[in-house]
Amino acid sequence: MRSRFVALAFMIGCGGPTGAAVPAPKRLETGLTAPIASAEAPRTPGYHYTFAIDEGLTRMKAEVCFVGGVPARLAPPMGAAVPFIEGAAHGDRVLTVNDEGIDLQGIEDGDCIRYAVDLERVFAEASGWDGVARVGDDALMSPDWWLWPPDPRPEGVPIRARFAAGTGASVPWPVDEQDGFTHLIPESCFVWKAQAAFGQLEEHRVTIPSAEFNVAVLGNGFGSRTRAVTDWVRNSAQVAADLLGRFPVDRAQVLMVADGRRSSFGLALRGGGPTAVLLVRTEPSDAELADDWTGVHELLHFTHPPMTTAEAWFYEGVVTYLTPVARARAGDITEEAAWTELFDGYHRGHHKSGTGLPLHEESRRMHETRAYWRVYWAGAAIALMWDVELHRQGRSLAETMRSLVDLRLDPARKWTGRQLAAKLDAACHCDVHQRIAEQHLDRAEFPDLRPYAKALGIRYTPGKALDGTVALDPRAPEVALRRAIMTAPK
Ligand SMILES: [Zn+2]
Repeated sequence: MRSRFVALAFMIGCGGPTGAAVPAPKRLETGLTAPIASAEAPRTPGYHYTFAIDEGLTRMKAEVCFVGGVPARLAPPMGAAVPFIEGAAHGDRVLTVNDEGIDLQGIEDGDCIRYAVDLERVFAEASGWDGVARVGDDALMSPDWWLWPPDPRPEGVPIRARFAAGTGASVPWPVDEQDGFTHLIPESCFVWKAQAAFGQLEEHRVTIPSAEFNVAVLGNGFGSRTRAVTDWVRNSAQVAADLLGRFPVDRAQVLMVADGRRSSFGLALRGGGPTAVLLVRTEPSDAELADDWTGVHELLHFTHPPMTTAEAWFYEGVVTYLTPVARARAGDITEEAAWTELFDGYHRGHHKSGTGLPLHEESRRMHETRAYWRVYWAGAAIALMWDVELHRQGRSLAETMRSLVDLRLDPARKWTGRQLAAKLDAACHCDVHQRIAEQHLDRAEFPDLRPYAKALGIRYTPGKALDGTVALDPRAPEVALRRAIMTAPK
């Protein structure tokens, strides 16, 4: 493996992820001229992608056939992907590739072109934060590195895809078999980050009454704990579904990575379809899985449309708050444990007050300033205030979020937290969401939860470390409301 890396580095010479124009290769890479699909050429209108990846995951070859029109070019999925394309060709003719993309001048309706991406170099030069990670013999590899989309993308022209036989692939795209192609690539794939996995993936289908999950396990997996881990995914999905009355999406891709690290880590992505990436300990015990809220948290992210980091106060706030609520309602944790989790978080968010920027601005710059606790927990404080005010009116945040799910908002649009707060208000014919959000978005102070804690009878005592204890007062004025928040409606 090592010697191959050296050889490649030598061949490639200069040009890193920030490199400029890519000269067309003088000689076509082996295999670029040979068709990768053995099936007949597609006949239905659309742009048809066939992908093939070798067993060692060193190269992605793509064949793209155009029926009913040809775009001007295939554009790079992102600027950083440009240096990793090895070349493009139409038959024996080399196509020009530069920062703009693969030039399709001279390509006619019905033609197919090919391009290849050097994945081995992507693995060597990109990082996990770029949607790339080797997991044993398998890999996470975002389409941002290998799916060069048509430019322009004319409306109404379907973009279809399939993987050549022998390519072990997991993608979030909806399955829609037509003309030998298995997937329809939705517009959101070109707007939001997406994730795909390749290799000899171990696949499991996990179902609950309202949704199904294509679970792919990467790398060496969980061995004898596999069943326990897939059961944990199913339970997490059911907990999220029970909170809302049904799971927020019909189908999702779940990529499981067995990881040596102590605590779990997760990521929810929406490009091309809902994806949850979950890193879980290699051999988790039953107790560790029962304790692990990561699955519920990431799956609850499918209750809202994808949004930019500036709106993290909304999406992380709502999901961070609803995670212990859902788990308490399902009976997975006690009411007291749920309040402790929330007030520990509020305490941390309050004292790790970020960089002193107003909340919305702090949210916008969260990845720069790393003010995660401030943004997540100030958002979760707003969510608690929403939920309490809604319960006072005989409603709940779970209910208004369910209404938001039912709107099936276009995932290819860029929604703001303020827009969604307005939609939540429309659902309850009230002003709770916008009014409370507006009181805090432009302020640097952490929301003052003392009046709420007092009314609900929650006394929090901070501990020496970052965890404290909660005492629940059975005589507080709104004790029934406090219990109702954490108890499933009958
Ligand atoms: Zn989250």
